[in-house]
Amino acid sequence: MQQQYDSVEIYRVKRLLNELSNVTGRGTELISLYIPPKRPPYDVINQLKDEYGTASNIKSDQTRTHVQDALVHIMQKLKLYKQFPDNGLIVFCGYVPSPENPVNEELIYYEIVPPKPVPTYLYRCDDHFHLDILKSMLKEEDLIGVISIDLSEAGFGIIEGDRVEVIEVITSGVGSKHRQGGQSARRFERIRENEINDFFHRVAEHAKEIFIDTYKIKRLIISGPGMAKEDFFKGDYLDYRLKQATIGLVDTGYAGEEGIRETLERGEELIEGVRLIEEKKIIDRFLAEVSKKDGLVVYGLQPSLQALKEGNADTVIISEDINTVRLEAACKNCGYTVEKFVNSPDVYKEKAEVSQQACPVCGKSLWNVTIQDVVDYVSDLANQVGAKVEVVSSKSEAGVMFKNFGGIAVMLRYQRK
Ligand SMILES: [Zn+2]
Repeated sequence: MQQQYDSVEIYRVKRLLNELSNVTGRGTELISLYIPPKRPPYDVINQLKDEYGTASNIKSDQTRTHVQDALVHIMQKLKLYKQFPDNGLIVFCGYVPSPENPVNEELIYYEIVPPKPVPTYLYRCDDHFHLDILKSMLKEEDLIGVISIDLSEAGFGIIEGDRVEVIEVITSGVGSKHRQGGQSARRFERIRENEINDFFHRVAEHAKEIFIDTYKIKRLIISGPGMAKEDFFKGDYLDYRLKQATIGLVDTGYAGEEGIRETLERGEELIEGVRLIEEKKIIDRFLAEVSKKDGLVVYGLQPSLQALKEGNADTVIISEDINTVRLEAACKNCGYTVEKFVNSPDVYKEKAEVSQQACPVCGKSLWNVTIQDVVDYVSDLANQVGAKVEVVSSKSEAGVMFKNFGGIAVMLRYQRK
């Protein structure tokens, strides 16, 4: 069963992947566990018990203790499940240097319900986390079909990730544009039109066999030089399912095999995913409101938070590169609370500073500091008022432009007074 992540969930998993990919264990002691769907929890726990036994052979005292601690921790967490989620479960656990003070180590534990089924059981204990399987699960996995066509040939290809495979190339048999001596111009035109028509029908037939019967693509790109691709697409040739799946027409210098390879470069934005197209629409809507005198929009962190707190928020748009963290310091003595928004890389420096200040109310310096990524904070606020959250990348021009507005904006429900 496919369970699509929304943009906030994708952001969270990407952030975690990024964090974990920078982590190295002191020894071979970081555990990655991939549990496929339908695996009963007791079965997994029994396997982990075996691993616990095996770990007793580890020579280094510290590594052995760390591995066994982590295994106990995982088993405790997994015991809470009667049954794992439909797509299975992914766990990362182990002792890592504390980001606050790398001399210390702390046990971290992450559980991820993946966007698609975990393909196979995997237990690894290593000096790093095994992230590749999860990474590949985040990619838009759908195969993209390519037809690269002009009036002399058509190539059929499949794009998967950054790989492209040429499946077939057929030639058109359409005669040259130039009439032989002795033929009437009209007759020549008619023959040529028929030849093109036959060729387009043949292309559509092959496309159906390749892209529907064999590869079951979700998206199609039609490329090629000149007008042939438009004529083919607009005409009554292509199976309606493939027509619906067509995400764009791309100009290339060649058709056929060469054209398919070119499509991978020229169609980059299309291939990046439907998501980038969605993001552009979201940002265009924002820009349209910004340019109006009384546009239903505010931007920048504080105005956006205020709109959210007032409940006047339809959609929050936030850049995945906003790199901002919210610090909240609560005085343990009197309850006085302050919040601060800081750059992510400075968070621990800021935390140390805040911790040393005296409480302006009671004068004590007993702070309880909590740290939250601003995307999480904003999406909590948004959930409370029923607003949507769209995390946008800054991979596209639109995304970069949006980031320059402060990386966050709120589309309002009504005009403020
Ligand atoms: Zn106080």
